[in-house]
Amino acid sequence: MEALNSEIYSCRRCLLWQNAKNSVPGEGPINAKVMFIGQNPGAEEDQKGKPFIGRAGKFLTKTLSDFGIKREDIFITNIVKHVSPKNRKPTPDEVAACLPYLVEQIEMIKPKIIVLLGASAKQTPRINGIEYCEVIHPSAAMRFTKMREKFMLQLDTVAKKISSLK
Ligand code: SF4
Repeated sequence: MEALNSEIYSCRRCLLWQNAKNSVPGEGPINAKVMFIGQNPGAEEDQKGKPFIGRAGKFLTKTLSDFGIKREDIFITNIVKHVSPKNRKPTPDEVAACLPYLVEQIEMIKPKIIVLLGASAKQTPRINGIEYCEVIHPSAAMRFTKMREKFMLQLDTVAKKISSLK
């Protein structure tokens, strides 16, 4: 994983690195049973080089904890490893350039469950033997009541699937 992270730190496969302060490969145990995948790092993540530490990340971490899921037990990353200008959605070319890193991470970690946060994360390639759960992105869930209600129901289902792994 360290070698892969070094590759990501020095990656120039697309132009997003030019706008970034740090790359954000993701974090969590190498043997995590569960991976969470979002769209791309935001401003705070770019500052610190860590995933999901901004407002949406804190909301996600708290919600996970409310459902009995410890953030330190999951591997959390994004489909794209560098921030986008003005936090725009990554383009299809940027996603295509970055996806091989995510595939390598999935192959190394071999999770049982992958939780896809938001629409962009649905571009994650499907690998046989892994269960994929699509949920609303926490930034949308945080802002809109209806989405938050749906997000809670979705996370309840995810939490049940995770607890059945133990
Ligand atoms: S976003 Fe991905 S493909 Fe683009 S420079 Fe960063 S690591 Fe490389």
